Amino acid sequence: MDINQLVRKNVQKLTPYQSARRIGGKGNVWLNANEYPIAPHYELSQQTLNRYPEPQPENVIKGYAEYAGVTPEQIIVSRGADEAIELLMRAFCEPGQDSILYCPPTYGMYQVSAETLGIDTKKVPTNKDWQLDLKGIQNNLDQVKLIYVCTPNNPTGNLINHEDLKTLLAIAKDRALVVIDEAYIEFSPQSSVVTWLADYPHLVILRTLSKAFALAGLRCGFTIANKPIIDALQKVIAPYPLAVPVADIAGQALSKEGIKNMQLHVVNMNNQKEKFTKELLQLSVVEQVYPSASNYLCVKFQDGKDVFNSLWNKGIILRDQSKSTGTNNMIRITIGTQAECEAVISALKAIE
Ligand SMILES: *Cc1c(COP(=O)(O)O)cnc(C)c1O
Repeated sequence: MDINQLVRKNVQKLTPYQSARRIGGKGNVWLNANEYPIAPHYELSQQTLNRYPEPQPENVIKGYAEYAGVTPEQIIVSRGADEAIELLMRAFCEPGQDSILYCPPTYGMYQVSAETLGIDTKKVPTNKDWQLDLKGIQNNLDQVKLIYVCTPNNPTGNLINHEDLKTLLAIAKDRALVVIDEAYIEFSPQSSVVTWLADYPHLVILRTLSKAFALAGLRCGFTIANKPIIDALQKVIAPYPLAVPVADIAGQALSKEGIKNMQLHVVNMNNQKEKFTKELLQLSVVEQVYPSASNYLCVKFQDGKDVFNSLWNKGIILRDQSKSTGTNNMIRITIGTQAECEAVISALKAIE
């Protein structure tokens, strides 16, 4: 019996998201998934596992609301921001009828989630400077219910202009939700659009504990929006999205001390990024280092394949972004510890 014949047609055709973990590699310097390089220490305080967890743990919701400067009713917590990307589609898009729109090069999960659910995708590539093609978006809004914009953008690292986001919100008014993916916003907190929620009923913001909070393994993310949107998401989310230990540690991460630690991570990473950029620019194998508002750098090398493979063979795992950016020799490097950045530099010097 050919089980594949039973699989849904769109899933048969699906290429799964090429996550850093799925691509694999062997090494001790992991700079391919934009994780924080050092594990913060946490201890579980909740040992009661015979009961189901709170569907939306109050301490986590309150903690994040306070941190983000919104009210608890403007937040829903989920199994990472990845789950939120999909919840929005499940709540707002009719499969086979509605579409989502996104602007490559950008985060890959918008496409994967849509294809999994049988929702059409419209792609409006960004301009040469990786900013929005607003005309192109305006001309492709038929049937579009969700517009995903990532800022700082993954993998390119740039911020999207606030003026353009406002124009986008005006274009989408009464037609579609604008979803701003702020997974890396802690690295440039002044660029968040969270204060705009009062003016835009169709604005949605995605956040996560996976990046600056150094908790990618926890799987905890947030959607921030006005109450009607949150209510729609509450209808489609699984009954108990957060395990008790996850809520426990998320609550600790969102305490005063937890947030202070996160802000220290940000200062460290931003300093490290500046230093690393300068060192990269001195190497002849490097053609360009793009400005980054996040915890990774997009770097154009003279020979990207050679760099990727040479470092891979030394156990330094980077992320090839040539295909996704449509630019040859483009590699994304997560900012690691000082020692990890030094390992990259000396491995690159060995190629020169
Ligand atoms: C890492 C990342 C996410 C996913 O975050 P999780 O909370 O770990 O699911 C979402 N969007 C972007 C742009 C990311 O880089």
